[in-house]
Amino acid sequence: MKATLVREIGAGFVTEDVELAAPIGREVLVDVKASGLCHTDLTFSRNDMGTPLPMLLGHEVAGVVAAVGPGVTEFAVGDHVVGCLVQSCGKCEACLTGRTFQCEHPEETLRHATDAPRVTAGGEPVEQVFGLGGFAQQALIHENQLVKVNDAIPFPQAALLGCGVVTGAGAVINTANTQAGDSVVIIGAGGVGLNAINGAVVAGATTIIAVDVADDKLEKAKRFGATHVINSTKADAVAEVLAITGRGADAAFDFVGIPAVTQSGLDMIRPGGGLYLIGIIDPSATLPLLTIGLIGAQKRIQGVYMGSTTPKHDIPLYADLYLQGRFELDDLMSREIALDGVNEGYAALKEPDVTRVVITSGLS
Ligand SMILES: [Zn+2]
Ligand SMILES: [Zn+2]
Repeated sequence: MKATLVREIGAGFVTEDVELAAPIGREVLVDVKASGLCHTDLTFSRNDMGTPLPMLLGHEVAGVVAAVGPGVTEFAVGDHVVGCLVQSCGKCEACLTGRTFQCEHPEETLRHATDAPRVTAGGEPVEQVFGLGGFAQQALIHENQLVKVNDAIPFPQAALLGCGVVTGAGAVINTANTQAGDSVVIIGAGGVGLNAINGAVVAGATTIIAVDVADDKLEKAKRFGATHVINSTKADAVAEVLAITGRGADAAFDFVGIPAVTQSGLDMIRPGGGLYLIGIIDPSATLPLLTIGLIGAQKRIQGVYMGSTTPKHDIPLYADLYLQGRFELDDLMSREIALDGVNEGYAALKEPDVTRVVITSGLS
């Protein structure tokens, strides 16, 4: 089968023939029907994150079950599924107390060193990043990383549920526990931030402020439910948020990850409010903090992983909201590409009117 790999850091993606093993244990073979391009994969392709090469990325994957291993109980051939990079063993204390995103043994969803690798190219092992490997015609995935979804949801929209949607909406709904009547600031109205706006609508926030540098993204933010928008190149975003909210927002969500932007998020929240860090443009970025300022204002800063998502609970929830017309996924879709168009797809994501790019052809 064909897969699109990274063979060298910074050298982009190449499409080539790879071999996929037959499913063993609790593995599920998925015919990939749609695969989203997430910025995290681009970060992995450009920065040495310690991942062996060659590597197979792609972690927003939707498809149809083609075969199941002998230990699989939850899925059958023909099921429509979405993959999620939350790797959970299902047995540790974190998993058993509903925090699968903090699993102590994520490696239990992978093959053991003594097993043959799931993916090889010309006999050489290929690193299946996050246990998914969605930039391929088929993917071999542990059943704990898969979620069954309603057949009515189109594959490209379903693929987005696996990372971008749960990351954005989950940060607002799960991590920050946003309540009806809350005020929130979403910094960065891109493909993930828009889902946070939609999550804030679902949670009942009454003041939803979107901050971005591009007017067309802010127009889109209004369509997703932002009650106020601020172009931070034209206005002092902190002053504007304080003017709108009075003493600051209950929560701010940083989907950008540049130190100056993160600092502005901290200045936008009220005493006792929370700043949630989700996006990271520069993995080496640091944040100088004045401790006394945090103490006096009782502010907290929290890193958010995958929107504190329990995939098998949350992904069907967002799918249902979409099918009820209460969660916008169609407007996220900007461009459909082929499996060998990943480099061009990532280049297109730089265009201000392109929100999400999904591979939908050249697949199984
Ligand atoms: Zn992602
Ligand atoms: Zn666990």
